[in-house]
Amino acid sequence: MPLGLSKRKGLKPSATAAVTALALDLQRQGQDVISMAAGEPDFATPAHIREAAKRALDEGKTKYTPVAGIAELREAVAAKFNRENALQCDPGQVVVSSGAKQSLYNAFQALLEPGDEVLLPAPYWVSYPAQIELSGGVPVEVPTSARDGFRLDPAEVRRRVTPRTKVLLVNSPNNPTGAAYPAGTIRELAGLALEHDFWIISDEIYEHLSYGGEVALSPGTIAPEQTVTINGASKAYAMTGWRLGYSMAPLELTRRMIAVQGQVSSNASSISQWAAVAALNGPQDFLPGFREAYRRRRDLITDGLNRLGMETPRPDGAFYVLADTTPIHADEGEAARILLEKARVAAVPGTDFAAPGRTRFSYACADEQIERVLERLAGLGRD
Ligand code: PLP
Repeated sequence: MPLGLSKRKGLKPSATAAVTALALDLQRQGQDVISMAAGEPDFATPAHIREAAKRALDEGKTKYTPVAGIAELREAVAAKFNRENALQCDPGQVVVSSGAKQSLYNAFQALLEPGDEVLLPAPYWVSYPAQIELSGGVPVEVPTSARDGFRLDPAEVRRRVTPRTKVLLVNSPNNPTGAAYPAGTIRELAGLALEHDFWIISDEIYEHLSYGGEVALSPGTIAPEQTVTINGASKAYAMTGWRLGYSMAPLELTRRMIAVQGQVSSNASSISQWAAVAALNGPQDFLPGFREAYRRRRDLITDGLNRLGMETPRPDGAFYVLADTTPIHADEGEAARILLEKARVAAVPGTDFAAPGRTRFSYACADEQIERVLERLAGLGRD
């Protein structure tokens, strides 16, 4: 008799990780595959951050730390939230985690009872519904459309509020659409949370990658007692492999999130924490350069895909475009397979992002690589 495995909802592998792994396998076999699948910056972690990590190692900062993080980092995070986001944050409200992904999981675990509904703007990042379901919650999709650049309409949120609504997930700039919400939208969403007594989880991991010029507004400035703000070092400081994220929440919820993390994984890597202190307290002057490079790449790929007949809204932020790949194949899974097999381009089908007919291309790669991808896609049409 086969041994039993859990049938828990949410337990499914990440589509992004699967495509990234397949592209790596093909590359290892010597095939010239260009990967636009992974959501990570191509830049190296800045030197002063790497130096701080080396120093931490040499100074023997290699032991367990408090579950919520070293005091120096909790203070640096609180200072960052105060300085950059106008949030009133005390270090006691900060939990440092092994990536923003874990910060999100702590929040869902600490907030959700079985059957609680989480309003989730779609298309969405694949891990949200999985984490909500692993925590017993029910994702409730709130649609956005390509016509509006995938920006969220608060009226669509209001329409889906029920007595079971526990959380609204806000992710601006968004993965996979790149949409960033104007301050007016954030104000309306926070107003809805106050009016109907639900939480907001605001995932601001792409905040430094925003090209619109409008200053981003954190919902926690409006509804501080009902907001969990999530951020991390991965995208802004090109530190995906270091696994360092953090959250800010009201004190009682923070205690619950620390309890979750304390039972699951304890502290984030001590070395990564010292590196993050240097990232947050050190110079920020390289950020505009990163941003400018991404903006140029965004225009290159958006214009290129539209020219090839794959309708692609121009994103406000992050480093993804969500292209209509129905000219390649009506089914996005088939389109991604054709892209990989015929054009040797790895990209993620929109299926798990709730984006049928679309494919996500990550443009966190060299301009020259984007140009080669566009040439290969043009070649597809000539087959
Ligand atoms: N939130 C969003 C929207 C993301 O796209 C990602 C990573 O792709 C994360 C959170 C997780 O980031 P981290 O590397 O800090 O776990």
